[in-house]
Amino acid sequence: MATTTHACPCLIDGEWTEPKTDRQTDIFNPSTGEVIANAPMCTPDHVNQAVTAAMNAFPAWRETPAVDRAHIMFRFRELLLKNADDIARTITLEHGKTFNEAKASVQRGIEMVEFACGLPSLLTGEILENLAPNVDSETVRHPLGVCAGITPFNFPAMVPLWMYPVALTCGNCFILKPSPRVPLSAIRIGELLVEAGIPKGVFNIVHGDKECVDAILHHPDIKAVSFVGSTPVAKYIYETGAAHGKRVQAAGGAKNHLIIMPDANLTQAVHGLQHSAFGCAGERCMAGSLAVAVDDIADPLVHSLTEQAAKMSVGRTDNGDQPDMGPVISKQHLDRIETYIDSAKSEGADVPLDGRETKPAGNGFFVGPTVVDRVTPDMKVGREEVFGPVLSIARVKSLEDAIEMGRQCQYGNGAVIFTQSGRAAREFKRHFNAGMIGINLGVPAPMAWFPFTGWNTSFYGDLHIQGKEGMMFYTQQRTIMTRWFEDDRVDKHDPVWRTGKK
Ligand code: NAD
Repeated sequence: MATTTHACPCLIDGEWTEPKTDRQTDIFNPSTGEVIANAPMCTPDHVNQAVTAAMNAFPAWRETPAVDRAHIMFRFRELLLKNADDIARTITLEHGKTFNEAKASVQRGIEMVEFACGLPSLLTGEILENLAPNVDSETVRHPLGVCAGITPFNFPAMVPLWMYPVALTCGNCFILKPSPRVPLSAIRIGELLVEAGIPKGVFNIVHGDKECVDAILHHPDIKAVSFVGSTPVAKYIYETGAAHGKRVQAAGGAKNHLIIMPDANLTQAVHGLQHSAFGCAGERCMAGSLAVAVDDIADPLVHSLTEQAAKMSVGRTDNGDQPDMGPVISKQHLDRIETYIDSAKSEGADVPLDGRETKPAGNGFFVGPTVVDRVTPDMKVGREEVFGPVLSIARVKSLEDAIEMGRQCQYGNGAVIFTQSGRAAREFKRHFNAGMIGINLGVPAPMAWFPFTGWNTSFYGDLHIQGKEGMMFYTQQRTIMTRWFEDDRVDKHDPVWRTGKK
């Protein structure tokens, strides 16, 4: 396929413009290794322009009734549904997911818009009449002002949609900084939001790296920052944003454990593991990374998993082909994944399936499904996030051992158990050291209506993304106390403090 150069504009104050910058970065098609676009690396000046546009738009947007803001989301949803295939193709082009995976991720993003369509119900306040004599007390929710979102490469459409449909419908203005590796999907979806009628300045997109992010974190007029990405950057964003007076929610990396009990249905468990570890080429924060086989299920599990994984097709996703698995995001990331396979071998693990031996020819960034057996948590591959199609297997004697292994993990995103036992499932869901639990389900990523509750170093902040917590993050409450006197007499009694003469 010939190299195509795609435009990579910013959206500032309702205008799509390609800002003049000294620095740009190449955007690759991971299926071929070709450069398909250049993204400008915005400077603090560009961020300032976006913030000014958002600040100017905020007073009118805040006053727009919540139901009218939601109406724009209804139109946005229709446009997303109509253009879902087109968006999915853009995702396959710049990210490398298979078309089916890309389409599914667009659907998960649309669910966030559907959640936002219903937000007026959640934005209602509370009132208690006559809390004290003739005194009513109420709480109402207000938007924060200008909010920003900084997103990772692995879900180019879905993760940005975790943020701004909710932020905007709550009455905030928003600045999105997508990953510089996958800006095209965010731009395409931004065009649809403009078409849906979002007023100019309410929603803005800037592109860039650390310089741009730092300008966001230091800007005094940005009230809140949502971040999704790796743990070291999440920690940095949380600390720096908070030090500059911002509300921050920062979701980080993961090392998700999948426990397979001796009583599990082996076929179902293997299918669940395969989907979890190799779906989206392992580039999911909820991907299974360490399978923990309990007792005598280990040998049949490794055998069956290796056999099934070896049958998976790996190939280009940009040309209409439908392989089981596509490439990973970049050459650099591919090299990093391969060092984990090397380290596993040198630290004494077995590698019954080495994905380097099954990769397709060409310049794409491919590595096939990889199974690493007899991993221990002190091995690099057993404790660090690989973020590629590498599934490690540890062998333990009991569920208690598996739960203890989870306690030693610094992350705490997802964890899964495959079992037929209610007792084991209950023990697991109550005691495992992770915030999102799956029972006989490989990827327990919550849907829009529930929060994405990572624990430990998988999340910094207190209000998570998605669900009611997402709405709470983007609003501040005001509490109002009202006293209406019964007549015109002066009453020296304070009915709340209960002081003064009655
Ligand atoms: P990343 O941390 O490298 O980048 C994320 C964002 O931060 C990008 O927009 C990037 O431009 C910016 N950034 C990168 N380095 C920065 C720095 N030093 N200072 C300021 N900003 C910086 O993450 P990635 O490689 O794009 O995405 C993969 C990671 O995201 C994985 O660790 C994955 O687990 C995680 N992730 C987590 C969740 C979750 O919900 N917990 C969801 C998706 C992805």
